[in-house]
Amino acid sequence: MKARKPGPLATRTPSLDTKTVARFWSKVAIGHESECWLWTGAKKDTGYGAFRVGNATCTASRYAYAAKHGPIDPQMHVLHSCDNPPCCNPEHLKLGTVADNSTDKVKRGRHCHGSKRPLAKLTNEQVMAIAKLWATGALSQKEIATRFGVNQSQVSRLLNRKRWRHVDVGAPKTGHCNRGTRGSIYPMEKQ
Ligand SMILES: [Zn+2]
Repeated sequence: MKARKPGPLATRTPSLDTKTVARFWSKVAIGHESECWLWTGAKKDTGYGAFRVGNATCTASRYAYAAKHGPIDPQMHVLHSCDNPPCCNPEHLKLGTVADNSTDKVKRGRHCHGSKRPLAKLTNEQVMAIAKLWATGALSQKEIATRFGVNQSQVSRLLNRKRWRHVDVGAPKTGHCNRGTRGSIYPMEKQ
């Protein structure tokens, strides 16, 4: 069987020398091991980070996985268990095939409700995380947007429930709640 030709972005892992690895991590917002560590450098249209080394560009999450575990089989893909494309936390990354990825997405319900819309980049879990973060008052909408790899208007729409009405985000800052669930966060998904 002939080996599949590696794609230009997905399958190449550039050099893993100490200097390059250090430069890579300097572009990642490293947090607690349970948090998503977001790529702060250039991004592809898909929301995935793009790490440039010489003439090659590597998907940031792929590089993150390789930086921790060593070179990756070109046939394999690095998948996010958190479903957050710009995330580079190795704890949230695993190896799999394209088929695994599609199965995972279906399992996580990315094919349902709001997440199906072409403009949507956020999962229901992320929407709830954003609402929680906003409720703490610690971050501005812009800071939250940067953290989740979306733009501020998306965060603003979301917090105003213009876009994500199927997820009850509580929105404690608006001061109104006519559903009797003020401050609570309930995904309104049918099981
Ligand atoms: Zn993550």
